[in-house]
Amino acid sequence: MKEATCIGCGCTDTDACITNEGTCSWIRLSRFVGKGVCSNCEDFAEKWDDNFFLSKWTEQNKGEANV
Ligand SMILES: [Zn+2]
Ligand SMILES: [Zn+2]
Repeated sequence: MKEATCIGCGCTDTDACITNEGTCSWIRLSRFVGKGVCSNCEDFAEKWDDNFFLSKWTEQNKGEANV
């Protein structure tokens, strides 16, 4: 599976950043483009949702969105 990188802080599946709740999780994720927004970068979720292409891909990959 393609490794995803957070568009906010640049963390990845194998190099998660640490939040108050522990390691981050994906709040937006598209395996298709290999990018996501982690729980440490909630501000970027808005930017993600504003991006038609990313939000479209997220929609298509919804089943994988909560890894
Ligand atoms: Zn992040
Ligand atoms: Zn992170």
